[in-house]
Amino acid sequence: MKAKQRGLSIEGVQGHNRRVILTAIQDMGACSRKDISVATGLDPATVTRAVGTLLEDGMLEEVGLVKGGRGRRSINLDFSASGRYILCLRLQRRSFSVAAFSLRGIAVDTIELPVPRGQPARKTFARISEVMDTFLADLRRIDGIGVAVPGPFLERDERVILMTESPEWQDFDLIMELRQRYSSIRVHSIHDAKAAALTEWRCHAKRLKTQVLLYISAGQGIGSALVVEGEVYRGASGLAGELGHTSIQFDGPSCKCGNFGCLELFTSRLALLRAIRERAATENGTCLTPDASFEEVLRAYSEGDRMALEEGNRVACYLAQGITNCINFTNPDLVVIGDEYAQFGLPFLKSIKDQVQATLLASVYSGVRIELSQITEDPVLKGAFLDVLSQT
Ligand SMILES: [Zn+2]
Repeated sequence: MKAKQRGLSIEGVQGHNRRVILTAIQDMGACSRKDISVATGLDPATVTRAVGTLLEDGMLEEVGLVKGGRGRRSINLDFSASGRYILCLRLQRRSFSVAAFSLRGIAVDTIELPVPRGQPARKTFARISEVMDTFLADLRRIDGIGVAVPGPFLERDERVILMTESPEWQDFDLIMELRQRYSSIRVHSIHDAKAAALTEWRCHAKRLKTQVLLYISAGQGIGSALVVEGEVYRGASGLAGELGHTSIQFDGPSCKCGNFGCLELFTSRLALLRAIRERAATENGTCLTPDASFEEVLRAYSEGDRMALEEGNRVACYLAQGITNCINFTNPDLVVIGDEYAQFGLPFLKSIKDQVQATLLASVYSGVRIELSQITEDPVLKGAFLDVLSQT
């Protein structure tokens, strides 16, 4: 066994075996002890012993009989469906969400609340804590807290170093504050685009036998993440994937990151709404008003409103430029565009694909599949859950 070769203690080997088994069940879903033995290379007696501990501990449960080889019947194992939970928080610029997941990955409850522009981080944190306290009071056992935040997030130091449009978070140590408040529970942090990419990999890309997934997170901010054969690429200090701060116009407007013409300045949901509201204040021939919401813009786009189409397709065109740059640099075989912009639907995707096709070599374009995310639950919250589960 590799763990023995590395000189681990017996407890270390047992812990290693349990983690290997839990990872296998995450990958395969409900499966038998024999399936686990085949998938992990652990001998059947070792699997039986480790599974026994995990059953006693309540991490796993037996989920009924299945027909095995030669007509034998065996019992499947899965993560516990109730009694133990992972609590996840997603922070965004204008909202936050909290969800409790059973160990099987089912969100038992989700709450999303708005955050007013410019509200001090301390005040938002108090609101977040109230919501999390309510969850903790209702749930029997929490195995971990997963926190997903926008980037640039320095994963090494667990600090948000820049949040355009919401600078109040840059001086607030959210992860440390959470650790102090919930000191008996392990708190894990992850960059939101990386969390969403994990979900996209697990729920979709893996089934397509993807080698390299480029996930584009487009909504209140613009981010991305690269998953290479199941592993999220993090970079030297965990900053990899800051697509929003790559320039598409070197003599463009200055960005708080120090660069000029950053993609996020032209394409974030906040930038899109600002452009539409400014135009709607002076132009006719649109159903949109100077206080239009993002949901109203989505509806107007789908109904063919002239201004919504012009602005939506302008954003698609800029995003496509960022995606082209990324494809040339990372050579993915699947690109998934997720977060709020996935709701624009197929005309938006077509605008992006047309532009990417026009700016890539034909042989490069033909080797990459570009899609909108089809995941209906919040992939960032789910990814924060997957991240915690993999470390529990
Ligand atoms: Zn920037």
